[in-house]
Order: sequence, then C-alpha cells, then structure tokens
Amino acid sequence: MPKRKKEKGPPLSYRSTIAEKMRYRLHSVAPRLYPGAQCRLSGRDAVALTIDDGPSETTRDLLSILESESLTATFFLSGAAVEVHPDLPGVILEQGNAVASHGFAHASMLRKSRKGVQEDIARSLSVIEKTSGQRPTLYRPPYGRLHPLHYGLPRAQGCRLVLWNVFIGDYDHRIDVPELHRRLATVRGGDILVLHDQAASFDRTSACLRLLAGMLRIRDLQTMTL
Ligand SMILES: [Zn+2]
Repeated sequence: MPKRKKEKGPPLSYRSTIAEKMRYRLHSVAPRLYPGAQCRLSGRDAVALTIDDGPSETTRDLLSILESESLTATFFLSGAAVEVHPDLPGVILEQGNAVASHGFAHASMLRKSRKGVQEDIARSLSVIEKTSGQRPTLYRPPYGRLHPLHYGLPRAQGCRLVLWNVFIGDYDHRIDVPELHRRLATVRGGDILVLHDQAASFDRTSACLRLLAGMLRIRDLQTMTL
C-alpha cells in the first residue's frame, strides 16, 4: 500500500513569524545607520513616496493610479530596465514625478569592486539622461546596500545617496495584504517610503497606493518628490 503523503497544514502567516518581524524592523531601521544617506525628509508636512526597480510593463498603470490619486513619486530606475522601456522615463517626468538612479544591473553592490560600482552607477546615469533628458542627482543602491568603503562613490558622480525609513514589502508575496496595510498605517509626515514597480506585484503595489492615498487625505498630508 502506497504511503499516504503527509498533508501539509495551512502555511503559517508570514508576518506572524519572529524572523519576518525582525526582518521588517531591520529593513526599516538599517538605512539610518548609513552615514550621509538621506532616510527621512527634513519637514513633517509631506511624505516622499519612492518606487524602485522600474520601468516595467506596468509602469503606465502605476502612473494612472498616481495621477488619479493625486500622488507624486520619485522613481529609482534600473538602467537595464530603462533600456527595455526607453520611452517611460520621459512619461514619468511629464506627469510631475521625478527620476533617480537605482544603478544599472540591479546586482548587489556589496560584492562589486570600487571600479564595478563606479561603472554601474555611471552606466545608469547615462541611460536615464539619454532617455529622459535629465541627469539624475539621486542614487539608491539595489537592496539598499553599499559597502562602507564605497559610500563616497555616488557623490563623486553628482548623486546624493537616498534610502528610506518605511519599508512596506509590496513585492514580497509571502507578506499578506492586511500586513501591508498595517505597515502603511504607520506612515507619518517626514517619512520616505519605498514601493516597487514590478509587473509581478502590480496588484499589491496598486492596492498599497490606493490605501496610502486615503490615509494621506485623512492626515492632510501630500506626497513630494525628492
Ligand atoms: Zn531594487
């Protein structure tokens, strides 16, 4: 008689694990340890919405939501994705949003040499400038990680290092939507929050944008670009 397969129970709620709670805290707190990186706004009468990893197949849909909800965002664009969608940086700007650099290849900068980091930043700045007509002055490394010895490299290319203080996790399908809502409910004036422009998580990101817009209206806050 064949062995009965052991039935799997319902998956544990991801947010309920201690590991995930710690990961969320770490993602939101760790950027503040970077010397010289901007993680919050100086004033408290607005929040900065930042959107990483685009452009993508769903950027235009995100832009429609931003427009209908009267939100503006700073898009930290990946150079390689810009090469696939060269028309989108200009469209993002036309709508009153800002474009910034998220590097070129979206690889971790921790393992790259000084020269490798310099080249990745330079390549992204060049393709974003070529396609949008604007050279970015802000840089956010992929995964928000940069080796301490390389902190000065973005500035040497005319870019301020910008991270965040509120990490939502919209791209991570293991985090349930009520938990995303709980994280968004913590947003206050002066925060820099990060969402993602990825086709695979568009539904979750758009839900976050609509909820954020509602909360900002209640708190009489606006979004500003960096
Ligand atoms: Zn990224």
